[in-house]
Amino acid sequence: MEITLSQYAGFCEGVERAYDIVEKIAKDPLVKRPIFVLGSLVHNDDVVAKIEKMGVQKIHVEGPLEDFFEKIKNEVGTLVITAHGIGPKIYELAKKHKVDLVDTTCPRVIKVQRLAKAFFDRNTQIVIIGEKNHKEVKGIYEWANKKAIFIETDEDLCGFDVDPGKKIAVISQTTQDQEFVDRAAAQISKKYPQAEVIDSICLTTHHRQTEIKQLAEKNDVIIAIGSPESANSTRLWEISQRVNPASYFIQRASELKSQWFAGCKKVAITAGASTPKWIIDEVLEKIKKY
Ligand code: SF4
Repeated sequence: MEITLSQYAGFCEGVERAYDIVEKIAKDPLVKRPIFVLGSLVHNDDVVAKIEKMGVQKIHVEGPLEDFFEKIKNEVGTLVITAHGIGPKIYELAKKHKVDLVDTTCPRVIKVQRLAKAFFDRNTQIVIIGEKNHKEVKGIYEWANKKAIFIETDEDLCGFDVDPGKKIAVISQTTQDQEFVDRAAAQISKKYPQAEVIDSICLTTHHRQTEIKQLAEKNDVIIAIGSPESANSTRLWEISQRVNPASYFIQRASELKSQWFAGCKKVAITAGASTPKWIIDEVLEKIKKY
């Protein structure tokens, strides 16, 4: 059986950078303890467990951000912002309550946050193509002063109405499905020719989605590795499934099933941006044995 590993499988630059920063501060005695990460550093349980072993715990915001800081100000030394980014309020609250921040927001997400702020300041109706409950999108929404319209599905496009005299700007979640973003942007532009469309899908996501379509066409079986909570991982699998129904989504090697490979001559493996190399290697080794 011929095995192809995606050239983009695993941590993207943004996640790699966030992980390296956390690894570095965990070893640095000058960084204020205890260190907490705001949510999961990446959507992968194995990576989160590894970070916890380094002494960096996970913490969640419960209730309003102001109350959260009141509660944690004496319990947290350093707070890490993940690569997904967060709204602007946290920076002033951390300063006010003297909590050190380590910001690992991916520079590509920062770019979209800044765009959201700039369009809001210019009194433009912002449209975000993305999942409104996703961490990155929630942050972008806050940078837009919570004044954006979400497009998550084709149904949202049908019910989409804006004052025709208003300026409109369309931005997207960095890990959105390129096909959906293109389709949604085309429909919005047709209805509102004044809409300014900015393709804010990150280049890494774009390359991965283009590659998985080609791999799904050329291979009998596709294995996509990632966590179900990881938007970009599940997206890769969904795109692959559209082309090749023999596409399987797994979190780790133990979930592989030998019957998937019956009669299979060519298999390709891809992995989401939050999947660590050690999990990809385990999957690769197990498939080699089939
Ligand atoms: S997927 Fe793209 S935007 Fe998101 S963390 Fe990775 S490099 Fe950054």
